[in-house]
Amino acid sequence: MNKNTPALDALYREVILDHHRHPRNFGALEGADAVVEGYNPLCGDRVELAVKIQNHQLLDCRFKGEGCSICMASASMMTEEVLGKPVKDVNEIIEGFRALLKGEECPLAVEGDLESLVGVRNFPVRIKCALLPWTTLNDAVQKATGESSTGGSEKKEEKVSGGQS
Ligand code: ZN
Repeated sequence: MNKNTPALDALYREVILDHHRHPRNFGALEGADAVVEGYNPLCGDRVELAVKIQNHQLLDCRFKGEGCSICMASASMMTEEVLGKPVKDVNEIIEGFRALLKGEECPLAVEGDLESLVGVRNFPVRIKCALLPWTTLNDAVQKATGESSTGGSEKKEEKVSGGQS
């Protein structure tokens, strides 16, 4: 049996196109803790990720930018996936998705719309498109939570040390 039936592909394409046409969490984020721009020169995708983090939780996450349907859909699905989650989980999701697209073992259970992106790993050229929002989110989260002061003018909120697990 051939797993890649045309019908399935069409369905996935439909999901991706839907996110591309109606991106979720698209736009500017007021009072963002960090904004990072990612660029994929191979395709020309440009994504700007803004995050708001409080008490080790990703309170809000928005993206802007211009790119191919894979990149935009990936960003849209990603924000839906990580929004409201603890930073620890967000990092795990990012790592998991990255591993998945690279064909590595992935502890992450990918379901829902995100599943439609897994097929991208069969097209090496598009993997970067799909991953760009995720690596950019990773940078944004690091930047927002990072202890090191990178000369930003904004004052950091007092940090809660020693979270319980
Ligand atoms: Zn692209």
